[in-house]
Amino acid sequence: MSEASEIPFDPDALRDRYRVERDKRLRADGNEQYVEMKDAFGRYLDDPYVDQSIEREPVFDEVDVVLVGGGFGGLQAAARLRQAGIDDIRIIEKGGDFGGTWYWNRYPGAQCDVESYCYLPLLEELDYVPREKYSYAKEILAHSAAIGEHFDLYKSALFQTEVKRLDWDDDARRWIVHTNQGDAIRARFVSMANGPLHRPKLPGIPGIDTFKGHSFHTSRWDYDYTGGGPDGGLDKLTDKRVAIIGTGATAIQCVPFLGETAEQLYVFQRTPSTVDVRGNRPTDTAWADSLEAGWQKHRMENFNALISGVPQKEDLVDDGWTDLIGKMLQHFRRAKDGDNMDIPTVMEMANFEKMEEIRARVDEYVDDPDVAEKLKPYYKMFCKRPTFNDDYLPTFNRANVTLVDTNGQGVDRVTENGVVVGGVEYEVDCIIYSTGFEVGTSYTRRSGYEVYGKAGRALSDHWSEGTRTLHGMGSYGFPNLFIMNTSQGGFTANFPHLLDESAVHQAHIIKHALEQGFTQVEVEQASEDQWVDTILGFSGGPLGGLGGPDCTPGYYNNEGQPNPTAAQSAPYGGGSIRFFKLLEEWREDGAFEGLRFLS
Ligand code: NDP
Repeated sequence: MSEASEIPFDPDALRDRYRVERDKRLRADGNEQYVEMKDAFGRYLDDPYVDQSIEREPVFDEVDVVLVGGGFGGLQAAARLRQAGIDDIRIIEKGGDFGGTWYWNRYPGAQCDVESYCYLPLLEELDYVPREKYSYAKEILAHSAAIGEHFDLYKSALFQTEVKRLDWDDDARRWIVHTNQGDAIRARFVSMANGPLHRPKLPGIPGIDTFKGHSFHTSRWDYDYTGGGPDGGLDKLTDKRVAIIGTGATAIQCVPFLGETAEQLYVFQRTPSTVDVRGNRPTDTAWADSLEAGWQKHRMENFNALISGVPQKEDLVDDGWTDLIGKMLQHFRRAKDGDNMDIPTVMEMANFEKMEEIRARVDEYVDDPDVAEKLKPYYKMFCKRPTFNDDYLPTFNRANVTLVDTNGQGVDRVTENGVVVGGVEYEVDCIIYSTGFEVGTSYTRRSGYEVYGKAGRALSDHWSEGTRTLHGMGSYGFPNLFIMNTSQGGFTANFPHLLDESAVHQAHIIKHALEQGFTQVEVEQASEDQWVDTILGFSGGPLGGLGGPDCTPGYYNNEGQPNPTAAQSAPYGGGSIRFFKLLEEWREDGAFEGLRFLS
């Protein structure tokens, strides 16, 4: 690619096209375009997966550690605490079982899209190898329950219970955990494993409250209405006209199943996703039998290195993610080896090339050229979450499936009878909102509760100008409190990897405090200030440099709006590998630098 004439696309034309596509989608209301699920919209949050709401007496006891959330974060934190010999814990979970994201997102086709051997936590501890390279939600949910069983966590769980408020009692040096069940549990330590994509959101489409048919959000799939289950077979839709709004990573997975059975499916698209090869396959049992102790951590680290651009002798995962980054890296290296283009230009060229490949796939799979054209994404790779699926694109060849492209503007209106785009009303029986989760709102709003630390100071106030922590895990003025989050911490596409590093780290600190008889451990102000400076010293975006101002709007770039707190709330800009190493060295050092312990 040293000669411009060898490039099989026109970079200037693509740059222009990307700019046009971004500009037409920019809107002043940014995150405000979405409707919070409360009041009249609160019913969209109801849990369709429990048979019966629990009735129980409130709990007022005391435990060593309360974990907020029973998803992968809470489960991994609990497992690492148990391994550290800390038994007196309680997990508070609003769902009816463990699983978190995988409890809620059991829409048809839900599947992890990072390889399951890296993604599912604690595989070696449970002596389990997933059945396929990419596990479906059912298996992941069962694995979550298996972690609960293996570490004897069910006895420590309060399900269908939502934390409403955390108060630090400075005299007693305990947190008081208030819940919607009237509990007031006292805890020496609290760890907040709320999950990053936890609060579903609805689009603020005029008339959304007037629709007389059925409607739900993908994270609360209504199988009573659709029939079937997470494996598909939605047999109650055979006489239904269905609309799905949104074409992000969730819709890419469930649209093929809707298309299979719905009498008529309308897919309302504002921005197409990149849809790359999936290539799922059953696990090779001989390979599984050959795995040696330490294999999972080794594989996770190999994957993380490859997607972080660190060359490895072998690519153990060898999939769309490693190919994506690997390809870009090749070009990057070529540039270093004396190509006459500068490095940013070569990276841009590599990105164009990858996106050309993605667009060519659309032509390969979609018969109607007009439909294919509308399904092509015109933005840089990593402006939006890459997706991988082999059935999504061919679904648009079905006679009962219609793509309704909104030319980047979104749906105009919802009426009593259906959905309006470009003056055309599409009458439907059911609207499925595949419109994602809150990301750009404040941490405490997304968590669903406020945290009051020393002298009653609210965490939202402490973080009003951006996150303030040491290592993303603890804040000055909020003793004995741990946060499991990407903000000021690590960021990797394999999120459970980060959760495990956090789980190990916090278990290490809690164990030390309990063993030494310390009643309080708090981040020192100076270390917090220093860590904030470290974060600001990098120029990463809110999600580890994903998205960017020149991208089409979405949650990766705060819906295209400037965000004054983004730089401070960004993950550690040195990358997750350096971050994990830094944590490990900090633990090995043994000085617990930056923390103040009180007896
Ligand atoms: P997203 O936020 O990615 O997608 C929301 C979709 O709704 C977008 O296509 C958006 O369009 C569209 N939308 C919003 N408002 C309107 C409107 N007014 N009219 C029409 N369309 C509208 O949510 P998802 O649930 O798809 O995914 C969220 C995240 O969850 C992913 O990014 C990923 O991190 C995770 N995920 C992971 C999976 C996995 O690991 N297997 C699977 C599924 C999700 P626009 O793009 O224009 O904003």
